Amino acid sequence: GAPTKQIDNVLRTKKIRALKQYLDSNPGSCPMSVPVTGRVEGKPWKQALDFTEAASLMRHLGTAAFIVMSYLTGMRPQEVLGLRTGCCPDPDSGQHLINGHIYKTATDENGNHRSEGELRDVPWVAITPVVNAIRVLERIVDDGALLFDGTSHDFINRRKFTGSVTFSAWRERIEDFAAWASGLATDLGRPHETVPSDPHGAIGTERFRRTLAWHIARRPGGLVALAIQYGHLRTAISGGYASRSRDGIHDLLDIETARATADTLATLHDDLAEGVGISGPAARRAIHAASHGPTFAGTILSARAARDLLENPSLAIHDNPKAYLMCVYNQEKALCHRLAGQQKAPSLDRCQPTCANITRTDHHAAQLTALADVLEKQAGALTPAPMGKRLQARAERLRALAENHHRGRLTLAEASA
Ligand code: SF4
Repeated sequence: GAPTKQIDNVLRTKKIRALKQYLDSNPGSCPMSVPVTGRVEGKPWKQALDFTEAASLMRHLGTAAFIVMSYLTGMRPQEVLGLRTGCCPDPDSGQHLINGHIYKTATDENGNHRSEGELRDVPWVAITPVVNAIRVLERIVDDGALLFDGTSHDFINRRKFTGSVTFSAWRERIEDFAAWASGLATDLGRPHETVPSDPHGAIGTERFRRTLAWHIARRPGGLVALAIQYGHLRTAISGGYASRSRDGIHDLLDIETARATADTLATLHDDLAEGVGISGPAARRAIHAASHGPTFAGTILSARAARDLLENPSLAIHDNPKAYLMCVYNQEKALCHRLAGQQKAPSLDRCQPTCANITRTDHHAAQLTALADVLEKQAGALTPAPMGKRLQARAERLRALAENHHRGRLTLAEASA
């Protein structure tokens, strides 16, 4: 109950040395009566939140919100920093939309740049984690303020600022957040979730949207939840409102999708030249497409070049490592869209094993056999019988696919004969 000024006076007097000595010899925590609701694998991520760490945790919370919004919307950093409270109202139905501002191309009637920006006529689509991040920020800043208002987010030093937290400050905050998250992962016994150091230097603010586009274009094999999330994001940010605009993330998406296709074509071209066999109903179409592989290697530098490749239906090859195949996409034959209707791109996460767009190489067959070996080992004596039977049945299906490949495989020389 002592007034702050009185404490301040005590700290300024020579008693301070005694106080420091007392603190050093009596270290202790100061847990706050705030419930810990966040969980990792069902357990609270922390026993209690300590008063002494509250300011730095708030700083990391603001950074986490910035990362979530930059990464999962595809917005430019300056657009994220220009958002205000109320930018993402709860809709009566359908998707949440974010009404942002654009700055780069904002000009007045005389052609002068408007530094305050102008309302973007195409809103951004927000998926749930982004909406949650905005709701957290709306509790941190005042009503009507910028979501990343500099003064409100300076939890540690409590200085006064005009405008949002600056780019240079974000660079430092993101590095601090990565270090903190890595420390937490280690403390929780999850060293595989630490953030590895980056040979290209600090993460910065610009990389998130490009990384999003890269992931959407390539869908990491094996991470099913992520693949579904990225598939959903592609639909969300490419469909509806957002598709009316070709700017921003759409160009990045085109470039990364075209690069992924060019990589697949080039790899297939090299494999076939080395005598690798190919099978499946779409094998001959794949051989034809791969013959164009060298033309596109390293040439996708602009959105225009990307669209030239993507608009050529005979080159539409998509690697699908999760299903151990390649999809030589032909809209008319696609089985993944039977219910969803015709689409310009395949839904790799809904791939159907009887589709006429499937092709496999010797590499896919080898991966199928290797996985079947692993499953058969797991189906051994230690596994309960029903689960063992399921694993055995899956191994047999995979082996049958590999055998089918070997029965119907063609090499480049055989196909051209
Ligand atoms: S079902 Fe599979 S192979 Fe067929 S179009 Fe869809 S993703 Fe491609």
